[in-house]
Amino acid sequence: MIVHFSVKMDDETLKIFTGYRVEQKTARGPAKCGIRSHPDVNLDETRALAAWMTLKCAVVGLPYGGAKGAVTCNPKVMSQNELERLTRRYTTEISVFISPEGDIPAPDVGTNPQVMAWIMDTYSMNKGYSVLGVVTGKPVEIGGSKGRSEATGRGCMMTARLAAKHLGISLEGATVVVPGFGNCGAAAAKLLAEDGSRIIAVSDSKGGIYNSKGLDVGSVSRHKKETSSVVGFKNSETLTHAELLELECDVLVPSALEGDIRADNAASVKARIIVEGANGPTTTEADKILHDNGRFVVPDILANAGGVIVSYFEWVQGLQSFFWNESEVNSRLQEILDNAFQKVLEVSQREKVDMRDAAYMVAIDCLARAITLRGTFP
Ligand code: NAD
Repeated sequence: MIVHFSVKMDDETLKIFTGYRVEQKTARGPAKCGIRSHPDVNLDETRALAAWMTLKCAVVGLPYGGAKGAVTCNPKVMSQNELERLTRRYTTEISVFISPEGDIPAPDVGTNPQVMAWIMDTYSMNKGYSVLGVVTGKPVEIGGSKGRSEATGRGCMMTARLAAKHLGISLEGATVVVPGFGNCGAAAAKLLAEDGSRIIAVSDSKGGIYNSKGLDVGSVSRHKKETSSVVGFKNSETLTHAELLELECDVLVPSALEGDIRADNAASVKARIIVEGANGPTTTEADKILHDNGRFVVPDILANAGGVIVSYFEWVQGLQSFFWNESEVNSRLQEILDNAFQKVLEVSQREKVDMRDAAYMVAIDCLARAITLRGTFP
C-alpha cells in the first residue's frame, strides 16, 4: 500500500508525505514488522525488508508473516508535534491494513516507543477502546513488554555468545566494534560490555570513535544524548564509519543501515565473528568474500531476531492482559534463540553451507510446509 497524506507543519504550511506498508507473506500468521522513518525509504526497500521479516519470523519459529512500513521523512528535523501529527495521519491511512489479528507494526530506524504509543492511541480512538495488540514496542506504561527496548541488542549479544562458543572463542575480554550506535547497536554494545567484552569503537551517522583500551558504553550513551552524536567523546580517537568496519577486532556488530559491507571493503574486514544487528548490512558479493576469508557471519534474520521475538511476547501479553517480569522475557528469548541457532548451525554443517544460506533453508522449509499444509485451492 502506498499512501500520500498531508501534515500541517509548525509554521502553518501543509506538507505532503509518502508512506508505505507492505505485507509480504502471511501463510504462518499475521504480518509483523517495524515502521521506518527516513528520507531515503522507498517501496523496493520496504518490500525487501518485508521479505526478510517473513524469513526472520520463520527461522525463529514465530507464528507471523512479514511486513514493513515506512514514511519518507527526516524525523531528526521535525518537532514532536509535527511527528505526532504525521504518525496519527499515517496510522489512519494504513488502518485498513493494521489490526492485532492482521498486521502489527513495531519500531525501526527513526521510530521509537513514543511513536508506537501514538499509533496505539490513534487506532484505539477509532475503535472506542484500548487495543494493546495492534502495535508492539510501546512504552511499558501502556502495554509494552519489559525487555523490549533492549531486545534486538540482547539478541545480538546472545547470538554472539553462541557463535563464540561454537568457535571455541571466549567473549571475556574480546574486542568488539559496533558501527551504528542506535537502538539496536547501543544495547548490543552495553550488554556485550556487561558480559566482559571490550567495546573499542562505535559510530553513528556523524562519525565514529575509537579507544583500544575500551569505551565506557554508559558514558558514550550519555554523551550521545547530550550532544546527539558519539563523536567528541572524551579519551577517544575520531574515525569514519567506514574505517570502523575494517578495525582489528574479534566481533563486529554492524547495526546501522543496509549495504555497509560491500565487495570493495569486505576483504578488509578483520573480525572473526560478524553479528548482523542491522537488516542487510552485507551485500551478496561481500558475503562470499567474508565466507572465503573464514569470517563467521551470524545472518541478520537470526542475529537481530531478538526484537521481533520480544515484540511477539508483547503481543501475547497484550492479548492476554497478563504481563511478565523481565527475567521471564529474557529467559524465553534465550530459549528461542538457542534453538534457532542450533537448528541453523546443524543445517549449515550438514549441507556444507554458510550460516546465511542455512538460515534461509530453515526459514523457507518452514514457510513451504505452511503453504503446502494450507493448500492452494479454495
Ligand atoms: P536507530 O535509528 O535507532 O539506529 C541507527 C544507528 O545507525 C544510529 O546511530 C544512526 O546514527 C546510525 N546510522 C545511520 N546511518 C548511518 C550511516 N550512514 N553511517 C553510520 N551510522 C549511521 O535504528 P535501529 O532501530 O537501531 O535500527 C538499526 C538497524 O537494526 C536497522 O537495519 C534496523 O532495520 C535493524 N533492526 C532494528 C530492530 C529494532 O527493534 N529497532 C529490530 C531488528 C532489526
